[in-house]
Amino acid sequence: MTLTVLMNAGPWLSVPPPGYGGIENVVATLVPELRRLGVRVVLASVGSSTLPVDERIAVFPDGQFHALQRPYNQVCGVSQAHLAEVVRELHRRDDVDLVHDHVEAVGLATLAAMGPDAPPVLHTLHWDLAKHPELYGGLDGGDRVRVNGVSAAQLARAPRALREHSVGHVHLSTPLAVDADRRPAVAKGDHLVILGRINPGKGQDLGARLARTVGFPLVLAGPVGPYHRPEDLAAAGDDARQNPDVRFFYEQVAPYVDGDLVRWVGTVAGPERDDLVASARASLFPLRWEEPGGTAVVESLSLGTPVLATARGCLPELIAHGRTGLLATDEEELGELVLTAGLLEPGECRREAAERFTPARMAQRYVELYDRVRRGATTPMPLA
Ligand code: UDP
Repeated sequence: MTLTVLMNAGPWLSVPPPGYGGIENVVATLVPELRRLGVRVVLASVGSSTLPVDERIAVFPDGQFHALQRPYNQVCGVSQAHLAEVVRELHRRDDVDLVHDHVEAVGLATLAAMGPDAPPVLHTLHWDLAKHPELYGGLDGGDRVRVNGVSAAQLARAPRALREHSVGHVHLSTPLAVDADRRPAVAKGDHLVILGRINPGKGQDLGARLARTVGFPLVLAGPVGPYHRPEDLAAAGDDARQNPDVRFFYEQVAPYVDGDLVRWVGTVAGPERDDLVASARASLFPLRWEEPGGTAVVESLSLGTPVLATARGCLPELIAHGRTGLLATDEEELGELVLTAGLLEPGECRREAAERFTPARMAQRYVELYDRVRRGATTPMPLA
């Protein structure tokens, strides 16, 4: 019997995303593999999504990410409007076997509130679970709503009520992992790279300071708030500083960005992104938060670039210290490890990625979880 899954990617960005887009990238990576396994996918997203699926639902013609800069009372209706359409659709039809939801807080709350007539739900937690303590701490999805994490470390920090709804974790994946072990080696340059949105948790300021004190070229790639290009940020003027990530960039990161040793290149995408990471000596993750999933981590391994990181969140699960990367306890130790990064073997990183982080492996595990959710299982699966 064919399984029909309503994949709720939310209203913020199209799928696949135009550049930056963690969750939308996960959905874009997962769906083709699910369909290859015979799953029918109804995608709830925005009109501009181009991912091939069996059916689509959309309220907004394109991604509403830009609206996130507005005050709460002007933006709170966006995900509600999207979820209202998902609920209408679920009431209209009876062929959806399961909803796989990715919409932070609102998806979980709305789908849990639908009551026993609604289909089973698997809500993937892509976030730091220290957030939303009242929602997560009091969650009651009956035996119909289940959650999964993107790492064991992330779930370990979750409030008890959320953990009681958990069916385990599924590590993130990337299409770059497919046959990563068969790709020829890429010539390495001198630079290190930090790929990710500019944000205190991702620690670009710590990385940039290290680059200046230890003395290595560092490229920062990723958006600052809604601004993808340095010229767009410059043109935005002082109003842009209302965004906390913009303030963080100006106050904590920009003082180290000299355009020479430390550069911010804005968001990079496609082959440009892959070349930047593949030619880097190492990827740096100077985290000051518990990174829940880390797509950029598995992308780096797939591109044959070892990972230097603080040992927080999912990093110890994804990185084999001394083989595919080096994990430090603090900024100072990270600075020392930079000097030995060249000893790590790029081929080892690519082999590990090809084995552990392919979309096929992730999809296989989600299909297993769908089955467990539909059977009302609550105990976590053994580690993958
Ligand atoms: N990304 C990108 N271009 C950039 C910066 C980031 O394409 O300039 C992508 C990156 O390759 C990854 C995603 O955005 O696929 C970030 O996901 P991750 O889980 O690392 O971080 P999140 O922002 O979701 O916490």
